[in-house]
Amino acid sequence: MFDKALELLKIFNDNGYEAYLVGGFVRDYVLGKKSADVDVCTNATPKQIQEIFKEVRLPFEQYGSVHLNYKKVNFEITTYRMDFEYEDKRKPSKIMYTDKLIIDLKRRDFTMNTLCMDLNGKIIDLLDGIKDIKDKMIRVVGSADKRLKEDSLRILRAIRFATELNFSLDDGLKEAIFTYRGNLKGLSYYRKKQELNRIFSSPNVNLGMDLLRYFGLSDYLGIDLSRKVVRTNDPIGIWAQVSPDDKYQFTSNEKTYLKAIKKVVNDGNISDWEIYREGTYVCYIAAQILKIDEVNIYDHFDSLPIKKTSDLAMNGKQIIDYLELNDKSLVKKIINDIERKVVLKKLVNSEDDIKKYLLNNYSNL
Ligand code: ATP
Ligand code: MG
Repeated sequence: MFDKALELLKIFNDNGYEAYLVGGFVRDYVLGKKSADVDVCTNATPKQIQEIFKEVRLPFEQYGSVHLNYKKVNFEITTYRMDFEYEDKRKPSKIMYTDKLIIDLKRRDFTMNTLCMDLNGKIIDLLDGIKDIKDKMIRVVGSADKRLKEDSLRILRAIRFATELNFSLDDGLKEAIFTYRGNLKGLSYYRKKQELNRIFSSPNVNLGMDLLRYFGLSDYLGIDLSRKVVRTNDPIGIWAQVSPDDKYQFTSNEKTYLKAIKKVVNDGNISDWEIYREGTYVCYIAAQILKIDEVNIYDHFDSLPIKKTSDLAMNGKQIIDYLELNDKSLVKKIINDIERKVVLKKLVNSEDDIKKYLLNNYSNL
């Protein structure tokens, strides 16, 4: 990945443009960590980039960045730019391209995110990013007050990076977070969720939670921070512990998990019935929250006499016929009862045993 990234810079260079790796990739490289995607900044405009890499599509938004998959690595390429006049606190009202790297670096959020790497792999540190990384300190580029006022997403990014990297927030940044936290109300729930997901996915999630609490962000983010959370293998387990307000959008899968995890956690108990009904994954996460040994869950599932309703030795139609039921709405209830008895090994899953059970319990319907 590293070699391919430098190769890409060389192509820009051979075509007469400047280009540097920048942002997360270089920061993570200095920290000895792997990065998933690579950000590149260049003085080439999207059109000029397209002349070099024919497959590139021009960004949808004016001044948007260009995506390029070069030798199976994803690059996000942005043309040097300056932002000014922030109006809606999130999007700059005007952007202009510039041909100066330093101007582009000054519009970036934190000093550690302004590090660049040139085509020889040399680090370029124009705004003292290395020092702040060494000090494990998140420091805003320029005036924290001005930069947080411009864009409230930076508040969440700061807390997210502090969590992921186990860094501290510089005093000026902390003060500005208190001053501008109210602007988080105007930040889209999509963005909020993205950043919170990163915080909730981190092994260091409790530092993140402490920071969210310290800055009193509960109301601004629409999550409940009153209790300490237990770390789970999936961020959905943290979402289940912070009761997000309805404006957060979850996929239907996430919604199912959220509801089921909450239910199991509220019941406070994970029997074979919960494992059967809600599945191993939900119970695994719920067990982590409840601090119950989660490893056993998979063994318990393996030893269940049935795994799904259709594994029952009698189906709904057979039950209706056998009991000569007129009120067919009862059958669901009866199946549920049999299922539960079978799962909890109080009834053997054979047609004979189920019939006997039906006679004893439901023959007078
Ligand atoms: P990661 O990829 O791990 O999330 P990153 O720092 O690369 O971290 P990106 O969202 O990929 O984060 O952004 C790339 C770079 O763009 C950042 O390093 C930073 O320089 C700049 N940047 C991103 N978001 C903002 C912002 N809201 N305000 C100012 N600069 C930003
Ligand atoms: Mg990045």
